[in-house]
Amino acid sequence: KLFNEVQELKGNIRVYCRIRPFLSGQSRKLTTIDYIGENGELLVVNPSKHGKDAHRMFKFNKVFSPTATQEEVFLDTQPLIRSVLDGYNVCIFAYGQTGSGKTYTMSGPSTSSKADWGVNYRALNDLFHLSRNRKSTYMYEVGVQMVEIYNEQVRDLLASDGSQRKLGIWSISQPNGLAVPDASMLPVKSTQDVLELMQIGQANRAVGATALNERSSRSHSVLTVHVRGVDLKTEATLRGSLHLVDLAGSERVDRSEATGDRLKEAQHINKSLSALGDVISALAQKSNHVPYRNSKLTQVLQSSLGGQAKTLMFVQINPDVESFSETISTLKFAERVS
Ligand code: ADP
Ligand code: MG
Repeated sequence: KLFNEVQELKGNIRVYCRIRPFLSGQSRKLTTIDYIGENGELLVVNPSKHGKDAHRMFKFNKVFSPTATQEEVFLDTQPLIRSVLDGYNVCIFAYGQTGSGKTYTMSGPSTSSKADWGVNYRALNDLFHLSRNRKSTYMYEVGVQMVEIYNEQVRDLLASDGSQRKLGIWSISQPNGLAVPDASMLPVKSTQDVLELMQIGQANRAVGATALNERSSRSHSVLTVHVRGVDLKTEATLRGSLHLVDLAGSERVDRSEATGDRLKEAQHINKSLSALGDVISALAQKSNHVPYRNSKLTQVLQSSLGGQAKTLMFVQINPDVESFSETISTLKFAERVS
């Protein structure tokens, strides 16, 4: 019932903005956030300008202020996640420059305290709890895949031998609906299962990376939750899926500074993020042609972008004045797709 409201708002695409707080230990800094409205308005200010030119207004389905908790953010995400059990495909991703809070929103700063849990853990937990407790005639199975897309190559993060095999992408017209059928699929039956498989994924992500943070900010990580329900009376089956995506950092790389591998990475990231923008913007405009084939990212996510699928983007903002130009470019990306 909640979800009907969601749908009425903006077709099948929702955009939430989340402003991260200044971090403790940072001296009190100037903020670019002037005003956050009740109805998704965000007024940003360029501190180096004066007068009315200094301000710009943006509009979202919702803006989360720096004091918003993980739980509050999840409450507004939960209806989408629950619709997966009704057979919908859902895609939730976090977009923003490195350090803007993408991983905080999607995974959280730690798993030791439940209050810290990000959308990923809460979503999986919710899904398997509901799938077991719901008074319905359906019996559900939940399975999870986790891949990383780095330099336009897809790698398995849940391979038991940590091999990070390179994987091919299949057309979504496959009967099983899997975009990356060769990626390991692990069943989830308990909170413990969730925590364990996330740990495997994180550990595999670090393999071969010179510095974990560096690598994780330059690759997209895609957690895919597959739900299969069987109606115990009629034996009819339904399938739903949930893509949870922590995107590579959206910051522009100075062409005069980046060379070699760094430049190549930057070009791949740039290409895939603009391909994502093009796809969502085409969907928002109800265009007849949706250009899925321009990046591995959009091919992997295709089944949960467009058609009956529901999409949610978290636009992550670092409020620091030093981030002003990246903030504007992030907000413009969001403006284009909503
Ligand atoms: P990204 O993944 O976009 O590079 P992170 O999620 O790693 O950014 O966040 C950068 C830093 O800011 C981390 O230390 C993180 O714990 C902190 N942070 C981000 N969002 C919040 C928030 N909403 N509340 C408190 N700390 C946050
Ligand atoms: Mg991150």
